Amino acid sequence: MGFKVISNTSRAKFSACHFLKEPLKCSRIHGHNYYVTVEVLGDLDENYFVVDFIELHKTLVSIVEPLDHYVLIPTESDYLKIIEEEHSIEIIKSSKRYVFPRSDVKFLPLKATTSELLAKYIHNQLKEIYNDKKIVVKLEESRGSIAVYEE
Ligand SMILES: [Zn+2]
Repeated sequence: MGFKVISNTSRAKFSACHFLKEPLKCSRIHGHNYYVTVEVLGDLDENYFVVDFIELHKTLVSIVEPLDHYVLIPTESDYLKIIEEEHSIEIIKSSKRYVFPRSDVKFLPLKATTSELLAKYIHNQLKEIYNDKKIVVKLEESRGSIAVYEE
């Protein structure tokens, strides 16, 4: 057993809308208020910290804030056709067609915008900064539904 710090600052949250693969219920466009908790495990540094809490909160907020109030579109999806126009983004999925203002869309390099893959997306960005630590990302998409990615 070693040291672990946990960041679940109330600022590490984002609201976003998405849709998943047909014919899941979640294939219909809908939204979530996501809450992120991060655990960092590792040895103590020269200040006797695993990581500085202030830095960790700030880093986490800077990762999730850009997702807030957007339509999340996974660019590596094999079930969406994405057509980019000058001011709009058209998405074709099975028999459905969505058109969003470009300014409302956030593209993510993912196969789908499940909470599992969103947790991994957040994890990857934290890992770039805290590369010598074990990091656990818990993403709560609704009360009682939490996806976790750790490495
Ligand atoms: Zn959902």
